[in-house]
Parts: sequence; structure tokens; C-alpha cells
Amino acid sequence: MTTTQTGSARIGEATLAEFAAGLRGTAVRPGDQDYDRERSIWNGAHDRHPAVIARCAGVADVIRTVDLARSEGLPLAVRGGGHSIPGFSTVDDGVVLDLSLMKGIQVNPESRRVTAQGGCTWKDLDAETQQFGLAVTGGLVSSTGIAGYTTGGGIGWLMRKYGLAADNVVAADVVTADGLFVHTSAEEHPDLFWGLRGGGGNFGVVTSFEFELHEVGPAVLSGLVFYPADEAEQVLRGYAAACAAAPDELTTLVNMTTAPPVPFLPEGTHGKPVIAVGGCWSGDLDAGEAATAPFRSLGTAIADVFAPNPYAAWQQALDPLYPRGLHNYFRSAFLRTADDASLRVLMDSFVNVPNALTEIHLQHLGGAVARVPSDATAFAARDQEFIVNIVARTPTAEGFADVVEWARGVTSALGRDAATFVNFTGEASVALVRASYPPDTYRRLVELKNEYDPTNLFRLNQNIAPSA
Ligand SMILES: Cc1cc2nc3c(=O)[nH]c(=O)nc-3n(C[C@H](O)[C@H](O)[C@H](O)COP(=O)(O)OP(=O)(O)OC[C@H]3O[C@@H](n4cnc5c(N)ncnc54)[C@H](O)[C@@H]3O)c2cc1C
Repeated sequence: MTTTQTGSARIGEATLAEFAAGLRGTAVRPGDQDYDRERSIWNGAHDRHPAVIARCAGVADVIRTVDLARSEGLPLAVRGGGHSIPGFSTVDDGVVLDLSLMKGIQVNPESRRVTAQGGCTWKDLDAETQQFGLAVTGGLVSSTGIAGYTTGGGIGWLMRKYGLAADNVVAADVVTADGLFVHTSAEEHPDLFWGLRGGGGNFGVVTSFEFELHEVGPAVLSGLVFYPADEAEQVLRGYAAACAAAPDELTTLVNMTTAPPVPFLPEGTHGKPVIAVGGCWSGDLDAGEAATAPFRSLGTAIADVFAPNPYAAWQQALDPLYPRGLHNYFRSAFLRTADDASLRVLMDSFVNVPNALTEIHLQHLGGAVARVPSDATAFAARDQEFIVNIVARTPTAEGFADVVEWARGVTSALGRDAATFVNFTGEASVALVRASYPPDTYRRLVELKNEYDPTNLFRLNQNIAPSA
């Protein structure tokens, strides 16, 4: 599964030199001191050698870079936070459009809106919005980019109360395949605005988002409870029942994992399989103990580290568990309900988990996510109550193919028709992209692609192929 390709770039030296000279940011090329650092992405499974990495400083650089890729016929990889699991944000012999220098953030505490450039991570955004006691649904790992995450929909700890990240986008600025700058909102280019919220990076480069914000924290009751793996059946069934009665302020997940060597877990459990139930209560702190209690008494708790944490700190709490550079493959399946047959698949699969790094997550959706009409955004899996995410990992390429096969086996055991989530899909597959959208949504996405990117310049993504 490791993808390594090298080869000579097809772009002329003079063209590249002229391009680099015109950038306000920097162009990093093979042989440059920073080249190896800048070409790497979070997922160590993708080792690619771009012809140029354009580190854009602003919209003008983005337009220049899109124009270069289009006019030279080069493959174009768009990079926000660099957390693409299939490695879409790097490319051999092509152009990487890197937004990581574009981190401008402006919070308006009165209107409760924030404008954030496409290179921000959730750590960047949370820091600015929490200064004013505000937040919008963000990723569970704070180094994830807001751009890739939000264009795919964006699920996180606040979603049951405030919806997906995409549900909170009120406007987005986009550079399209023909290098045009377009401001989109419900009033301006509403079709494109619809597609950017769930359709991934298919339609252009989002240079900035405007999000609606909500009062959150500063402390949220959040944490994890660890149960022994031999209580999996009781914990999973109890979890599904507790979710049915959970208030919207509470978002939870189950992580079937291996106990890390952390001080709050008894030494005897380190390296043993455990079932962790994590959650974030974003309502009134006093009411949080009662609301989280059903999730904290699902079995014989090995440890319960729920506590009031600053929201921004909770957003970063899981970061050390998902370090950069490992070989990663994710695979997902939405579940309409956590029925017995699906829970049985998860339990049986976990018994055969291939290594201590590999995990099965079961995350509760619903709440505000389900209240948005399914045709309001391109993210249409509103009637699915849960999502399973298989996080399959190895430290290096050794044994990686085996964990990938295992992960594929879990989702196929859940059912061939199980819809997938583009953000958690570890490979580029036409069939998986189709399975990520209901037929009407997919048809609408193809129409949009025909209009805004008929030559498929933006094809390094969970690709909606144009039919034109
Ligand atoms: C450790 C980890 C934790 C995660 N947790 C969550 C989670 O809690 N919830 C969730 O929903 N997802 C989660 N994800 C999935 C994540 O949302 C996707 O991988 C997402 O694509 C990452 O965005 P990025 O900007 O960091 O990635 P990049 O690799 O920079 O980009 C990925 C793709 O997104 C598109 N893209 C990036 N920037 C732009 C832009 N400015 N304009 C248009 N398109 C763009 C492009 O198609 C690009 O190829 C997680 C991923 C990882 C690796």
C-alpha cells in the first residue's frame, strides 16, 4: 500500500523559475533544503515527490498556482492541513498547492462569526474562537485542517448540539479551476455553496470560510471511561441504548483499542485490549454529571477520566495518540442503527485486531446533524445514527498491506451497501465515492462538477468525475 513514485518533472525550468519569482509565498522544489519536510504529509504511507510545492501566501498565489497546473497540464494536489488519509495532498511530478501559510483568522464576537483562511488547523481556530468563549464543531485531532475536514462535512464533539462544521459555514471564498475568485453563500452561487459543504475538494480551492459560532465552555465535561475488552458485548449494547436517550449537548464515541501506557490506567492493563467510551458534554456543567452517567457505568470501569476541561484542551487531548508519519488506512461505514448484527461484527473483528495501533471507532451522530434536511448540503447521511471508523495503522510499511486487508474485511462484513464517509475513506475508489452519497446527491454533484471543473483539474480528492 505504500505509494512511492519518482520521475522527472514535466515542467520546464524557465516556467518554474518565472512562477516562483511571481509568488508572494515560496516555491519549494526538489533539491531545496526544505523539500523533504514540505513534501511529507501526516500519513506516512504516501511518499511522493512533487515537481513544486507552492506555499501560497494569499489568494493571488492560489490563483497563480491553479493557473500553472491548468496551463501546464500538471496534476494538482490541494493541501490544507495535510491530513488526507489516501494521500490526496501530495503528488508525484505535479503541483502541490499548500495553504499552510494562510492562517488568517478574524472573530467577530458580536455577530458570532469567524472568518478563517484555508490553511488553518482546528488548533488555530479553537485558540481564536475560545478567546471569546465561542466555537464551531471541529475535528477530534487538532492538527487536522479546517478545509479538507469541512468540505467533507466535518464530524466532531459539538456536532449533536450545533451540527457538522459544514452546517455552520455561512460563506466561503473559492478559486475555481479556471482561476476565478468566487464568493459563495446561500445567496451567491448557492449551487457551489451547496457542493462545498460535503462534496470535498472537487469544485475549487477554498481560500477562506466564514463560520457561525456558538457559546462553548470555556470548560466542557469531557473525557474517557475504559472498560475491559471481555465486557465488550455488555458495553456496546449498553452504549447503543444510552445513545438513544442522550441529550444533544452530549456527543460520544466508543473506541475499541489497546490500553496505552498512561499513568491513569493501571499498569496491568497497558497493552491489553480495552473499550474506551469518550464524550464531550457542551451544556451546563452542573447537568453534565447526570447526562454522562449512563456512559460511565456501562461495565466495570478500569478508569474514568471525565472532568471539566477547557474546550480547546479537550480538542487537543487525543493528539498524541495520532502522531504524524505512521502508515495509516481508514475505512468507514455509516450505520442507520447500532443493530445487534453490526455490533457483533465489531466485536468479532476486534478479537482479531491485527496490532495494538489499530482501532475500531463507533461514533454517535443524530441530534442537530439529523435535523438538517438531507438536500440542504452535499453531506446527506442525515438519517444515519452512527458511523464506524476503522483506524488501521502500522509504524512502517512492514505489515501494512495486512492491516489494510483486515480493515476492508470489517466494512465488508458490515454489509456491501454500507454508505461510507468521504473524510474517513482511505483510498481513492469510484465505487466508494458513489457509496458515500445518495443517488440524487451524487447526480447533483456531477452536474456541479460539469459546470465548475469539466476537465477534472481537481481530481486528487474523493473524486466526482465530470460526465461532460
Ligand atoms: C488524525 C485524523 C483525525 C481526523 N479526525 C476527524 C474528525 O474528527 N472528523 C472528521 O470529519 N474527519 C476527521 N478526519 C478526516 C479529515 O477530516 C480528512 O482527512 C480531511 O480531508 C483532512 O483535511 P486537511 O485539510 O487536513 O487535509 P489535506 O490533506 O490538506 O486535504 C485533503 C483534501 O481536502 C481537500 N482540501 C484541502 N484543502 C482544501 C481547500 N482549501 N479547498 C478545497 N479543498 C481542500 C482536497 O481535496 C485535499 O486533497 C481525521 C483525519 C485524521 C488524519
